[in-house]
Amino acid sequence: MANRFASGKHAIAICDICGWTFKRKELRELVIKTKNINILVCAQDWSPDQPQLQLGMYPVDDPQALRNPRPDSPSYPTSRELWIQSTSSVYAVVQVSRGTVTLT
Ligand SMILES: [Zn+2]
Repeated sequence: MANRFASGKHAIAICDICGWTFKRKELRELVIKTKNINILVCAQDWSPDQPQLQLGMYPVDDPQALRNPRPDSPSYPTSRELWIQSTSSVYAVVQVSRGTVTLT
């Protein structure tokens, strides 16, 4: 069976975006969201299919919340000593525990 379309090697066409005339074989099909939208554009107006426009087309399962969460570390310090030192000798010791500050 013969080919149903002519080769079109001398055909001219108009870019669907800028309107300039080009050889038909120089125009490319525009694809948006993986679909050919039947628009022929010149090389300057053509852009590849943007993957960011494909959001929602593919299932993504990336949960962030934890079921029955716990604190990071169960052995957090209950008291802490803070040494305040002058340039020559120890000046004071401050003990800090829950709700209590002791200065010695
Ligand atoms: Zn164009």
